[in-house]
Amino acid sequence: MLKKEFKKKDVNRARNLLMGNSNASTGIQIGYGKKTEDYKEGDVWTEGRKTWTIKKGIKQTISKLDKIKKEVFMPLCCPKCGTVMKKRLDKPNYKLHKKCFDCVIEFEHKLKIKGEYDAYIKKLKAKNSLDIVDEMESYLLDAINTSNSGFVSEDGVIEKWVGGIDKVELTKQVKEAVNTRRTHIEKTLNDKEGA
Ligand SMILES: [Zn+2]
Repeated sequence: MLKKEFKKKDVNRARNLLMGNSNASTGIQIGYGKKTEDYKEGDVWTEGRKTWTIKKGIKQTISKLDKIKKEVFMPLCCPKCGTVMKKRLDKPNYKLHKKCFDCVIEFEHKLKIKGEYDAYIKKLKAKNSLDIVDEMESYLLDAINTSNSGFVSEDGVIEKWVGGIDKVELTKQVKEAVNTRRTHIEKTLNDKEGA
């Protein structure tokens, strides 16, 4: 049986997954640190932008759970106009804008009149990209830290690795890729000239 090893190209795969093809930059030199952090049941600590804990032996993000709770418990009425949110488009719009579909339409119409619509859409897109990066980060860190022998492939399948992986090193690489992407998006967001 062929022994699959964790190689630099796999790190690059993770990086490309995060950054998309357009921004793929490879060849970043990584130092090999010896620092390992171990956490036990009930510990709470911060990694990246997330707060983590270990519950019943499984590492998980606290913010992720909070976010899921917020998504699930959509209020009955729109916080802006007080109308009961029962239309098909209310739910996806509430998720994104925290108001009902009619309120979103009205808000966007006002922006168009003021000529601020394009800047608003640009901001929304960047915000969405940041959300995707956040999700990707916790997904990859989850995969790295949940298993000693698994790795996420490009199509999202967790591959089994015979030799195991260097968790500390891979976590570092993922964080680095994530931060690069985040900086890039934030730069786009703050680029006033392009607005
Ligand atoms: Zn409303």
